[in-house]
Amino acid sequence: MADRGAAGGPLRVAITGPALSEMRDQDRAANDTEIGGLLLGWWAPGTIIVRHAIVVRDPRSTGTSWTRRPRQSRRALADALAIFEHPLLGYVGDWHCHPQVCAASDRDLASLQRTSRQYRSPLALIVSLPDGTCDTRAAQDGMLVPVTTDDRPVLAAGDA
Ligand SMILES: [Zn+2]
Repeated sequence: MADRGAAGGPLRVAITGPALSEMRDQDRAANDTEIGGLLLGWWAPGTIIVRHAIVVRDPRSTGTSWTRRPRQSRRALADALAIFEHPLLGYVGDWHCHPQVCAASDRDLASLQRTSRQYRSPLALIVSLPDGTCDTRAAQDGMLVPVTTDDRPVLAAGDA
């Protein structure tokens, strides 16, 4: 379980590997509707390591909403884990893109908090914005927690 930073500092969300380009590529393909899916990675002390961003289709997505569909999510997760064959990889959160430059909405944060109650470790939410930035959030036990992010490469077991 990844607890908050050693001194109770912010949780670090490390976006590594192809995760960022996977979100950007999907974003460009989505035109003006929101697209999103699952973040795959693992936990290290004080850190959520995000390695992949996979797509979960929401046939009802619009320009302002994308909803994670449970059945599609389970299938997308199983397919991705079979393809990537990485021993540590698992579900660590959600991502979606916003066609407009606006941060995670109250609805996005409420959904993150709700989902985080189902997991012992913290979950991340990454909102990919059209200006190339990301709004990165995290929650644990139903509460939002402070986050730091960086794009430094992370070396961890299985990364070699
Ligand atoms: Zn949103």
